[in-house]
Amino acid sequence: MKENHITKRLRKIRERIKEEEVEGVFITNPVNGRYLSGFTGTRVYLLIMQEDAFLLTDFRYRDQALEEAPHYSLVSLKGSLADSLKEIVDKKNIKSLAFEKQHLTLYWYDLLKEKLPPKIRLLPLYNLVENIRQIKDEEEIALLKEGAALTERCFTGILPYIKPGVREEEVACELEYLCRKGGGQKTAFDFIVASGRRSALPHGVASWKKIEPGDMVVIDFGIYYKGYCSDMTRTLAMGYAGSREKKLYSLVLKAQQEAVQGIEEGMSGEEADNLARKVLAEAGYGDNFGHGLGHGIGLEVHEEPRLAPKIKSTLQRGMVFSVEPGIYLTGWGGIRIEDMALLREGGCELLTGNFKEELLVL
Ligand code: ZN
Ligand code: ZN
Repeated sequence: MKENHITKRLRKIRERIKEEEVEGVFITNPVNGRYLSGFTGTRVYLLIMQEDAFLLTDFRYRDQALEEAPHYSLVSLKGSLADSLKEIVDKKNIKSLAFEKQHLTLYWYDLLKEKLPPKIRLLPLYNLVENIRQIKDEEEIALLKEGAALTERCFTGILPYIKPGVREEEVACELEYLCRKGGGQKTAFDFIVASGRRSALPHGVASWKKIEPGDMVVIDFGIYYKGYCSDMTRTLAMGYAGSREKKLYSLVLKAQQEAVQGIEEGMSGEEADNLARKVLAEAGYGDNFGHGLGHGIGLEVHEEPRLAPKIKSTLQRGMVFSVEPGIYLTGWGGIRIEDMALLREGGCELLTGNFKEELLVL
């Protein structure tokens, strides 16, 4: 049979369980379930072995699962999940099974221990699917690019709406409306619209505050589009911008550009982070950049890899991540510029990147 993106992912997961010397893996995280099967319903469990692949879901999703996940044998859940799993384990005589350590709760682990044959070896694995998900295939890259383009269009669309006296929450609502009207299914996270002194809060979700002349306004938003997330931040000035605002904006932009130009394959998350951090630190703002440079973006808005201090794992071709340096000064405000980048053979390709060459004054 010809390989498609699902069979490719199945092949990768099978290679991994072979390396771990277990017969199968039990997947409980719905995002990982979707990634490995193509099934988009919210209740999904997978049991993958070298020769077989089972998808367990309930009656509500039967037809959808049959259609979306043709590479799996469907198991319709009637009683408890543990009982259904036990049935397969007994039938296939499975003696060792890996599970997702950070997704299976202790409650479920205890229940499985109780229900499954006592001799079965249960092996906890960390980031098993997440590590495979870091490298995007061409189908994923195409969707991420479409989502990124929509994100930029929505940003252009919201600009005329931002005026003195408009509340942050109103900007966030209007922006969400544009995103959904443009084809997004939902927001990728609660939008950040933080103005004036509030912009010093790196994760200041939109509040009831009115945007006032002289405010710096940080807008950080993302769209959930065909299953994939986007994430972009722009900082603008309301009415006018002082020299300090302009100076710090240029500095953050320079930090971002140095990172985008310098990031290459094989670099560690720490080294990538340091490209931007060095620029800010040399200007005396190292302590005001209190978060990591970036995070992977895909089916989830925050996923592997991490671009941050102390991260030793390396960046590889096919990864999509944010590059988002910032400066935050308590009592004054903050500036952040964030774009999505795809790591290619020769370096980063930006998926977003417009409207930032100079501080936008509305
Ligand atoms: Zn963001
Ligand atoms: Zn981000």
